[in-house]
Amino acid sequence: MTSARTRGRLVERLRQQGIRHEEVLGIMGNTPRHIFVDEALAHRAYDDVSLPIGQGQTISQPYIVARMVELAVGAPKRERVLEVGTGCGYQTAVLAQLFKTVYSVERLGNLLDKARVRLRDLRLSNIRLRHGDGFIGMTDAAPFDAILIAAAPTFVPEALLSQLAPGGRMVFPLGNLDQELRMIERTEDGFIESRLEKVRFVPMLPGLA
Ligand code: SAH
Repeated sequence: MTSARTRGRLVERLRQQGIRHEEVLGIMGNTPRHIFVDEALAHRAYDDVSLPIGQGQTISQPYIVARMVELAVGAPKRERVLEVGTGCGYQTAVLAQLFKTVYSVERLGNLLDKARVRLRDLRLSNIRLRHGDGFIGMTDAAPFDAILIAAAPTFVPEALLSQLAPGGRMVFPLGNLDQELRMIERTEDGFIESRLEKVRFVPMLPGLA
């Protein structure tokens, strides 16, 4: 169930769904997703579904991880990426294989502790995890070539836009019940926003827990 064949099927499905970036597909085919979910759910880890990871949160569906990551790697540089919402750490692991350094912030300390152990087991050493509020971002590590938000805010988090490098991209779901994937690119003289597909994420919430 966690074999190379199962992962190969995941990659095939991602291709059919329109994911084209070979490097992203290769990494998703090689990153063990089952270690990021509870053992009882491991047999569903390669299905294209979101799964519960505790505390009312979910691991994002592989398609949406691939889609957001593919948009993020389109940024002109791949030095620093900020992930908001570490969750179980799966997307963090994927990003760590595409960017020089990954900064990831999670508001739930308990989920972050579990993600830390898993990422350490995978021996990914270019990841900096922080227990914090993603609405604030990480000013001390900015600017970022890409920012990915894995939870849905109901308004554009302005503080994060100011942490984007020139040419940098922020990819995030926006909305409450009716959510849409958005991408905002920082240009020489401002920001360009693109509206992408309909999505469904857990809400982005302020403060720590
Ligand atoms: N990429 C993760 C997504 C987890 S769900 C995965 O695949 O596992 C979204 C995560 O965002 C949750 O863990 C939630 O606690 C976190 N989150 C919500 N609001 C946040 C905020 N303001 N700052 C940091 N993390 C936040």
